[in-house]
Amino acid sequence: MTSKPGPRIGIVVPCCNEEKILPLTAARLLEALGQLIREALAGPGSLIYFVDDGSSDGTWDEISRLAEQHEQIAGIKLTRNFGHQYALYAGLMEAEGDALVSLDADLQDDIGVIGDMLREFLTGKDIVYGVRDDRASDTRFKRWSAAAHYWFADKLGISTVRNHADYRLMSRAAIRLLSRYHEANLYLRGIVPLLGLPSAEVTYRRTERLAGESKYSIGKMISLSLRGITSFSIMPLRFITAMGILVFIISLILGLWALHAALFREGAVPGWASTVIPIYLLGGLQLFAIGVAGEYIGKTYMEVKRRPLYLVESRCGGSKNVPDAPG
Ligand code: UDP
Ligand code: MG
Repeated sequence: MTSKPGPRIGIVVPCCNEEKILPLTAARLLEALGQLIREALAGPGSLIYFVDDGSSDGTWDEISRLAEQHEQIAGIKLTRNFGHQYALYAGLMEAEGDALVSLDADLQDDIGVIGDMLREFLTGKDIVYGVRDDRASDTRFKRWSAAAHYWFADKLGISTVRNHADYRLMSRAAIRLLSRYHEANLYLRGIVPLLGLPSAEVTYRRTERLAGESKYSIGKMISLSLRGITSFSIMPLRFITAMGILVFIISLILGLWALHAALFREGAVPGWASTVIPIYLLGGLQLFAIGVAGEYIGKTYMEVKRRPLYLVESRCGGSKNVPDAPG
């Protein structure tokens, strides 16, 4: 074991209505951090940041209490609920440290591999992805929807790290580059690989949520998946164009065939179905096309407003533990 202290790290945990789980999460993280410091993988001044994403329960009180009790805990309270990706971004922008590790409050991600992440960091990697080696603890629906998302994203040419959620380590250099991305449609899993910095992966097993319920409803999951796809690819727009051309050609052929039937065959009267079905078909196709195009226009609208991605209401703890910069 070396005597040189390790890097100062920050552990960033977004929390939305996690009052039940926080004491347990804090205890486990404090223990893990203590171990990392003993192994010289983390240095003194390392902090655990809980970001309260507009919780409606006693989450902030719990965070304040924990910050008062433990000097290694700090809290950041956002003004309202911004959503997981934004709360995480807020934490990454506000936290101090040479390396930041992000993870969920429910500790479904094995905190035992933070040490492995730091070892990779110490060999010069700027980004270390935590990758799940199995999803046995996820519900069947969650596994199925994740598989569908990755399949679709792959087909659309979006590069994401498979089975990697937002459990990752980022160096200060990576955070600095990340801060230059201001997109309103934030999808960190898509942006981080775009930074292009040296990266590594560590694998772990994802476990059940310790307590409380998943804050990711079906609606939120679909919205995250759509954001991931539409923020990184304009393929759906091209797909619509291609489909339009295809339908046009098919209807042209059908028209010629109908003309042929009317001129050269007897009794070939086009019936009700051949009139009405194309109307429904094209109507549906057009609505779909307008919807997808609208999705992009809406995205552009959100981006041009350049609203702040998060707003901090207050902070607690931490500061007394931050060593003064030498000189
Ligand atoms: N979360 C958040 N804001 C939200 C929803 C979730 O900060 O609007 C946090 C939540 O407290 C947790 C993490 O994001 O720490 C992941 O949420 P959850 O565990 O509910 O998602 P799942 O693991 O089911 O995908
Ligand atoms: Mg979870």
